[in-house]
Amino acid sequence: MATQRIIDFLATRRPTGPCLVVDLDVVEDNYQAFRRALPDSAIYYAVKANPAPEILRLLASLGSNFDCASVAEIEMALNAGATANRISYGNTIKKERDVAAAHALGVSLFAVDCVEEVEKVARAAPGARVFCRVLTDGAGAEWPLSRKFGCVPAMAVDVLTHAQALGLVATGVSFHVGSQQCDTQAWDGALADAAFVFNTLAERGITLTLVNMGGGFPTRYLKDVPTAQAYGRAIFASLCRHFGNRLPETIIEPGRGMVGDAGVIKAEVVLVSKKSAEDANRWVFLDIGKFGGLAETMDEAIRYPIVTARDEDRKEPCVLAGPTCDSADVLYEKTPYPLPISLTVGDEVLIEGTGAYTTTYSAVAFNGFEPLRSYVI
Ligand SMILES: *Cc1c(COP(=O)(O)O)cnc(C)c1O
Repeated sequence: MATQRIIDFLATRRPTGPCLVVDLDVVEDNYQAFRRALPDSAIYYAVKANPAPEILRLLASLGSNFDCASVAEIEMALNAGATANRISYGNTIKKERDVAAAHALGVSLFAVDCVEEVEKVARAAPGARVFCRVLTDGAGAEWPLSRKFGCVPAMAVDVLTHAQALGLVATGVSFHVGSQQCDTQAWDGALADAAFVFNTLAERGITLTLVNMGGGFPTRYLKDVPTAQAYGRAIFASLCRHFGNRLPETIIEPGRGMVGDAGVIKAEVVLVSKKSAEDANRWVFLDIGKFGGLAETMDEAIRYPIVTARDEDRKEPCVLAGPTCDSADVLYEKTPYPLPISLTVGDEVLIEGTGAYTTTYSAVAFNGFEPLRSYVI
């Protein structure tokens, strides 16, 4: 939502060109909501969702930990005031020299999902703690994560056994139920898999202690989503169901759910046209598109709320597209987007719920359009 602070900022600063404005008060509210919803879980903010230094500094000061996917993200978290023991290198695909660089910076918690990666970590970060990521099916997620990350639970047993044999500390299991996960029960199956890995390794004399329950917590776009509290209750019930009275340490890694609803993109209508006199739908072209930060409109997966000053007027569906000369730069066409019939060139539109996965997806000047500017207030 465009908060009063964001509306006031845009009214007084009048930035030209498309830009993202993030309200830190909303980020803080989201952080506290996660704290209350899962009071026994440590929060590791997924830096890739929005690495603005102001956001990282705020979260570091509130006590958050950080899930980083690269050495650059680790450095950003350190620069924001996090100590290395509050950082997880959560990417399962790392160059060995990057593992060494992270280790040199003091990071000692790494994700793996195969023995090949375990061997890199054992060489480059001897003695480190590792957790093994297991596959999930991503059912119920609007932005599912494919089979790119994780292995089946039976293989996780072998991966962690190998890690322990190489002198690493086999610490636990991780998973990610898919981003924009609207089913509060989605964690249940993955927690059952985690318990299986815990129990099987216990029989081999290896005691795991940590379950990393990943991200997936949604942002409200056009439809209502369950509250953080509802997720907390469902997840805690699943933990008890599968681990009984021997609950492990747990981590959550919210990205979208931490910053998505804190940001609003201001954009401008560049052109309204039709392709033929009989064309039922108008085409509305904005000064921002897939390459300027709205990459999650790919396959029309994420449908952002769009607010205009003419929303009292009658609305008709239109095809919404970006400004570049790439024909893939169309945001909504399969399901046209209802916008006011009076919408015209030069009008400003606010695209809400854009605090996550926008600046990080904005290409560096594709077609000469500058990367998405952002203001964190
Ligand atoms: C991207 C990512 C997250 C954040 O996911 P959200 O759905 O945005 O909450 C968490 N953990 C890992 C390992 C990730 O890659």
